[in-house]
Amino acid sequence: MTSSDELRKRREQEAVRIRTSLNRLRGEQRASLKGGETAVAFVEERLCIGCDQCTIVCDDDAIEMYKVDMVSPLIHVESNQKAKILRADCTGCRLCVLACPTDAITMIDR
Ligand code: SF4
Ligand code: SF4
Repeated sequence: MTSSDELRKRREQEAVRIRTSLNRLRGEQRASLKGGETAVAFVEERLCIGCDQCTIVCDDDAIEMYKVDMVSPLIHVESNQKAKILRADCTGCRLCVLACPTDAITMIDR
């Protein structure tokens, strides 16, 4: 029978394996993205769920949230929020693209 110590060790090894593979994936994804002075982030409003993750990672304060009315046939929600890129402040670092859980942000030519 597996002891709790062995189980804990296996969990730790698995966590390291997952973290390593995610980091590799992010590195590959980042390398394939446009970035730098000639690029700027763009948010596709339809895909944005207003989770605020992008504003947390943006060191340049280049993202602001704005309120929109949310339409749902199931529940009444007065408003939701969406992200908007402030183009002049965006440095093209691509962090927000990697942070967005819904792939709502892409890098486009400036
Ligand atoms: S690309 Fe970088 S600077 Fe531009 S909005 Fe995203 S996180 Fe901010
Ligand atoms: S991380 Fe993506 S989904 Fe979340 S607020 Fe920013 S753009 Fe919208």
